[in-house]
Amino acid sequence: MKPGDNGTGDAELQWDRGCAALNQAMMGIPVAIGAYAIAKHRPRKLLYFIPGVAALLTVWRRFVCARCRYYGLECSTFLGVFTSLMWPRDESRPLDRKTMVADFALMGLLSLVPLPQVFKDFKLTLLYVTSVISAVLSILFNSCWRCGNWFCPMKEISRKISVQSSA
Ligand code: SF4
Repeated sequence: MKPGDNGTGDAELQWDRGCAALNQAMMGIPVAIGAYAIAKHRPRKLLYFIPGVAALLTVWRRFVCARCRYYGLECSTFLGVFTSLMWPRDESRPLDRKTMVADFALMGLLSLVPLPQVFKDFKLTLLYVTSVISAVLSILFNSCWRCGNWFCPMKEISRKISVQSSA
């Protein structure tokens, strides 16, 4: 199956490198701000924050991106490409909604870890909250509409937004 071809008749386009690069950078900014806040106010917490982020980007990709139609390809991020350098494609089962929900839940949990340290500083709070919201909106508005993972919860939100805005 070609990337973006979900067989449902939805109009999906090929991904482009600029979009993947933008989203990858947008996702990295809150992690960097969070790590900075932790390093400044409670450095020992980095001992599990950094390995947690690393595990999400490496080991956990084995269960998400290695099963995704975009394995080996640029997608909403570069994770499809990065995963193909770390893991073989998992042919045993396709990516499904439950796994995507678990993926978002893990990302959400990790994004909560720096909050106590971020909240100690008003500027950091503003930067952190803005960067998290911007990363989600960037993916939602420049990626989800063309994604072939029709079972993804973000795809559902993207569809609802496009239905409402065209009504
Ligand atoms: S629909 Fe889901 S899998 Fe596709 S780009 Fe959006 S978040 Fe990623």
